Amino acid sequence: MQTIYQPPAEHANLDATDPGLLAAVARGEARLTPEQALALLEQTPTFELGRWADARCRQVHGDRFRTYVIDRNINYTNVCTAKCTFCAFRRDATDHDAYTLEYEQLFEKIAQLRNIGGTQILMQGGMNPELGLDWYIQLLHGIKERFPGMHVHGFSPPEFIEFVDFFNPPGKNLEEKLRWVMVRLQQAGLDSLPGGGGEIFAPAVRRKIGLGKCDAEAWLTTMYVAHSLGMYTSATMMFGHIEGHADRIHHMKLVRDWQDKALRDFGTGEAPVDVANDPSIAKPSTGGHYVSFISWPFQPDNTPLGRCREWPAEGDVEQYGEPFPGDAVAKLDGSGTKDLHPEFGRRLRLAGATSYLRTQATSRLFLDNIYSIGSSWVTMGPHIGQVALMFGANDMGSVMMEENVVSAAGTTYCLDEALLCRLIRESGFTPAQRDNTYDVLRMHTADDSPDLRVTDWSQHRAKSLHKQAEAEHKAELTVSAGN
Ligand code: SF4
Repeated sequence: MQTIYQPPAEHANLDATDPGLLAAVARGEARLTPEQALALLEQTPTFELGRWADARCRQVHGDRFRTYVIDRNINYTNVCTAKCTFCAFRRDATDHDAYTLEYEQLFEKIAQLRNIGGTQILMQGGMNPELGLDWYIQLLHGIKERFPGMHVHGFSPPEFIEFVDFFNPPGKNLEEKLRWVMVRLQQAGLDSLPGGGGEIFAPAVRRKIGLGKCDAEAWLTTMYVAHSLGMYTSATMMFGHIEGHADRIHHMKLVRDWQDKALRDFGTGEAPVDVANDPSIAKPSTGGHYVSFISWPFQPDNTPLGRCREWPAEGDVEQYGEPFPGDAVAKLDGSGTKDLHPEFGRRLRLAGATSYLRTQATSRLFLDNIYSIGSSWVTMGPHIGQVALMFGANDMGSVMMEENVVSAAGTTYCLDEALLCRLIRESGFTPAQRDNTYDVLRMHTADDSPDLRVTDWSQHRAKSLHKQAEAEHKAELTVSAGN
C-alpha cells in the first residue's frame, strides 16, 4: 500500500523544473528542497505547475471524490490584546461593539448547525484576558453535554500562548505549561486545534504584521504539544502582503520539518484504509500530527496593513530598483532582516488568483507529508476555489454558515451544501462530506445528493446571493461600528 509518509529520497541536485524530478515528487519518491520549491513557485509555467500538483493530489487522494465539511465558525469574542495590522476583526474591551458570546448564544449556534447536518465547530476568538480557564472548561463541558457527537476544533496557537500568559499554569518551560492547559481543555471536550495565526513565520515579517502575537517557535511548539496529546491539527499560511516568495517556502519548510518530527515521535505508522473503500488510498497515521494545510491571500479592506501602497508605487523602481522589498529581505532560512530594504513592510504585493493557485500548487508538491490541502474559496470566490481542485487541493473546506473574520476584511462569499457539491461535481469528482479526521461520512453518488435535488439553480442561486448580501451588510455594520 502506498502511504504518504515514507521518507522520500532527496533529489537535491536536480533542476526544479526537471520532469523526472517532478514525476518522482508526484509519486512520493522524491522530496523537494527549499531551493527547488522556490524555483517552482517563481519559474514554472502556471498550468504545468498545476498539472504536477494535480498528479500528486491524485496519487494521495485518488481520482474519485473530493471532500467538504459542514461546520460553523464561531468567533466567541472579538476582544483581543494583539494588534495584528492585517486584522479588521479585533476590538479593545472598551469599544462599544466589543463582544463575548454568552454560553446560550453559543449553544444556539451549535443547535442550528446540528439541524443542517453539521459535524464540527471551529471555535476561535481574540485573546481576551477577561476569560479565565474555568470559562473555557465550562463552555466545553456544556457543548459536549448538549451535543455529544459534535467535534470541537478550537483555539489556535496564539490563543493557547495567551492562555499560558493569563492562567499562569505550573511548568518549567513553555511546553510543560502548554501541556498543563491543553490537557484540561482536552479532558473538557476539545478535540483538535485549528491552524489560525500561522500567517508567515519569518521573524522580520511577523514582527511587522503580528503585533502582540506569538512567534513561530511558540506557534509550532503549541502544535507539537497538541500532537503529543494525540490531536490532529491544521496548518495555515496567509500570504500576499509584505512577504517575499522565499518567506512562503520557509514557512512551509517549518511545517514540513515539524510534521516529520510529530510523525517520528507520535505517529503509529499505521495507515487505516479509507472509508471510501478504496484500499489504494492511504490515510495518515493515527498519532497526533498536522492533517491539513490551507493557505490564502491577505484580504486588505478595512485593515491598517491594507492602507500601505502596492509595489511598485510611482517612483519606487527609480529610487529603490526592481525587487519587491519583501523579496529583497526574504531568505529561505528565515534569517532576513528589515534593514535589507528601506521600504520593507511599507509596500504590499497583493496576491491574485494566479499567485494563489501557484502557491497552493507548490504547497501540494513541497508538503509531501501533509494529507490534505484545502482550497480557500472563502477568500478567492467559488470559481477560483473550484479551479484550486485542479491545482493540488483535495478539499473544499466548509459550508459557510457564519464567518466573521475574513468578512470583516471585505470578503463575503456564501455557499450552501448544494452549491459546494455542484462545484465539486462540475470539476469531475464525486462530492463527499467528511468529518474533521477526513473520514468520509456520505458519498454523494445518488439522486438525493444535495446538488442533484436542486431543480432550479437560478432560484437557488438567488437565495444564496440574498444570504451573501446579508453577510456583506453585516460586515459593513461591523466595520462602520468599529470606525
Ligand atoms: S488576527 Fe487574531 S490575534 Fe491578531 S488582532 Fe486579530 S483577533 Fe487578535
